[in-house]
Amino acid sequence: MYLEELELRNFRNYQTVAVKFSPQINVLIGKNAQGKTNLLEAIYVLAMARSHRTNNDRELISFKQKEAYLSGRVMRKLGSLPLEISLSRKGKKAKVNHLEQARLSQYIGNLNVILFAPEDLSLVKGSPAIRRRFIDMEFGQIDPRYLYNLTRYRTILKQRNNYLKQLQQKKATDTLYLEVLSEQLAQFAGAIIVKRLEFLAELERYAKEIHSQITQDKEQLAFSYESSLKEPSEATENEITEALKKGFADLQQKEIFQGTTLLGPHRDDVVFKINGQNVQIYGSQGQQRTTALSVKLAEIELMKNKTGEYPILLLDDVLSELDGNRQTHLLKTIQGRVQTFLTTPGLNDITQQLIKEPKIFHIDDGQ
Ligand code: ATP
Ligand code: MG
Repeated sequence: MYLEELELRNFRNYQTVAVKFSPQINVLIGKNAQGKTNLLEAIYVLAMARSHRTNNDRELISFKQKEAYLSGRVMRKLGSLPLEISLSRKGKKAKVNHLEQARLSQYIGNLNVILFAPEDLSLVKGSPAIRRRFIDMEFGQIDPRYLYNLTRYRTILKQRNNYLKQLQQKKATDTLYLEVLSEQLAQFAGAIIVKRLEFLAELERYAKEIHSQITQDKEQLAFSYESSLKEPSEATENEITEALKKGFADLQQKEIFQGTTLLGPHRDDVVFKINGQNVQIYGSQGQQRTTALSVKLAEIELMKNKTGEYPILLLDDVLSELDGNRQTHLLKTIQGRVQTFLTTPGLNDITQQLIKEPKIFHIDDGQ
């Protein structure tokens, strides 16, 4: 798939802009603070109905304006599809084919994006929350059901944590209601964990292959899903749900004491290993970067396999962060297959040689 055109009104530092893109490589060149990342962010918002860098939609609306509007046309195998997002103080509206979508989980997935920014290089060495967010964002695009379960899970988790705090402070005493919430939470958790295991196993296969290509077969990459729940990785959804229910029963006193939920996908993590060793702990800076790159490139293949079409790729200032070998690998992987938007203060010699026929946009103060 690719994004044919984009129109923005009052989005960040763009007043009005309408652009047509190349289905291949689009290069956004400009000095600092001109609007390069804002444009990538706009594409991300059009795809995900939320920003990758803020939870507060208000920040996306231009200063002194009340409403931001984004629209785009996505070319997919079956034809072109108009998408629209409007953001205002009252909330956001998302339209597919001019029809407003009641649920965002139905909107997301029409335009699939993978964003790669310098902070993604910390996918490996950063906190577990970063990896969970990566998993949830990427798998959510592939599978609307996953996204729906995740949204429900988060709502119930919030209720359950609130109730645990009430029990902790003795404002409530009835543990029967806690059990009802535990039961519901365990249902959604089971569905989420089982999908994570399935998608991760496939992602691992692609990442392994890519990683060994980049390292000329010197390094074997592997993933392992570390769950707060000690269950074998081949457990079924039902078994996971049951194990969680039992876990909640066993931990009840501890959870009330701490006033928070101690088990479930919101506590889980993925560990990346090179030749059997945890990369986060033992890996060099370069190995951590290569791992992050392999995982991101693997995501492209996973999406292609699950949805039948390549996603679009947003690269924010990453080329300069990679050495020549990794730049070459990245550009070769995407060339001719994946529509790419990349930002840069200027093209250097290596990249200029590697990028064939880019469409170049010069960005200056939101123009
Ligand atoms: P760099 O090369 O430094 O990453 P960039 O071109 O990616 O720069 P952006 O992050 O796209 O820069 O744009 C930053 C500019 O957008 C800043 O000058 C900032 O003040 C402006 N900006 C951010 N949010 C808004 C908003 N809501 N309304 C108007 N302008 C905004
Ligand atoms: Mg930027």
